[in-house]
Amino acid sequence: MLDLYDEEKRLIGEAWTSQTLYANLATLCDFGSRFAGTESEAKAREWLRDQFVRLGLANVRLEPFTFTAWSRGACQVRVLAPKEIPLTSAISLVYSPSTPPDGIQAELVDVGMGTEEEFATHAGRLEGKIVMVSSASPEGGRWVHRREKYGRAVAAGAAGFLFVNHLPGRLAPTGSLRSGRMAEIPAAGLCWEDGFLLARRAREDQVLVEMRIQNDARSTETAHVVGEVPGNPGQETIIIGAHYDGHDIAQGAMDDGSGVALVLEMARLFAPLAGRLPRTLRFICFTAEELGLLGSTKYVRQHAAELDRVALMVNIDGGVTGGFGGFSFSGFSELRPILQDWAEEMEMDWKIEDTIGTATDAFPFILAGVPAVNLLARGRDPRLGRGFGHTAADTLDKVDRHDLHDAAMTLARVLLRMATYEGPLGRRRTRDEVKQILIDHDLERPLRAQDGWPFDEG
Ligand SMILES: [Zn+2]
Repeated sequence: MLDLYDEEKRLIGEAWTSQTLYANLATLCDFGSRFAGTESEAKAREWLRDQFVRLGLANVRLEPFTFTAWSRGACQVRVLAPKEIPLTSAISLVYSPSTPPDGIQAELVDVGMGTEEEFATHAGRLEGKIVMVSSASPEGGRWVHRREKYGRAVAAGAAGFLFVNHLPGRLAPTGSLRSGRMAEIPAAGLCWEDGFLLARRAREDQVLVEMRIQNDARSTETAHVVGEVPGNPGQETIIIGAHYDGHDIAQGAMDDGSGVALVLEMARLFAPLAGRLPRTLRFICFTAEELGLLGSTKYVRQHAAELDRVALMVNIDGGVTGGFGGFSFSGFSELRPILQDWAEEMEMDWKIEDTIGTATDAFPFILAGVPAVNLLARGRDPRLGRGFGHTAADTLDKVDRHDLHDAAMTLARVLLRMATYEGPLGRRRTRDEVKQILIDHDLERPLRAQDGWPFDEG
């Protein structure tokens, strides 16, 4: 019989004094970007599998799939008129097609933050233009994802798309334009400073911009890394996941090396409990998250027949700034009182939010009706709003060791409760119920705009 109190003390001590937690994150960063389809991703994958084996997990395996890998070539963006200005920060966005060799030239239109309302204001005036939007979202409003902005620009007939970092520091943002497939019109990220200059010129004059982009795509194979701590036979499974792939321009330390380091740490802490917990813990290092949730979408499809046995998906993505902050429970409202009870019992002050992240690996599970939560960071990096994610500055120095240990310690305590909780954790939803959850969260129009509304028949 497991003494939960003793076990919890062990987990806390192990997590707090862990010699491997930060070292594993550093190792992941040293592999390089781990961008899906690259050698650094393949090396990280082998290493992760070796770690799962070394930790003594059961059923350690790679789950392969084929996908469209994209690779970055040259990207030049410049103002041609009224005065020639090179915009030296420009980098392609993921899945941007190439332009013809001598580029595309078109008038620039600044569509602000690229919200639905701003696109409506410019209706009928974007055909053949190069649309520029910033990475910002309205204060206090819904976060408007890059893929939604791009989808609206394509639908409006734009010839090109420029995505400007709303934060200073000469950092151009990257990110995928479509989910797992080549996009329609060429697109580049620009730093805040270049975007500011463009916006100022566009207020004064008609601005003619040229984009010259060369990229490649090919079909290849990659794989998730999976391992388990088996529970009682016939019991449910809890999935604990993070994505090990990053963007090709950085180390992906926060997004999502830190999440993978936490998954490895949970695997280490819980491996000795094999056969002693009611629920099975399945640890998954997902890949191809940065390609529009391609990897987790494939995983959910491949495992459709057994999703009824998944009690909960716990997703760790996007950093641990300030340590463990709480969870968003994604419309699965029965999880709220359970999480609240735990926070109270542990005498902790968590954020417990009913929000749905549509751009992280929990989302394909939510679409399949599987209860899912996202780990929330406690604080925000005071230097930047969203953090340095998706820029060249997402590097190891941005992750605070203390925060990482704090997140590991509390996550381990929560996972122990999840694995041993006597009642049902979450309830699987039907397709109609999922659709209603998304409508209630005002997500139908944003998902439609990015070609991601899966509920149309025929
Ligand atoms: Zn991420």
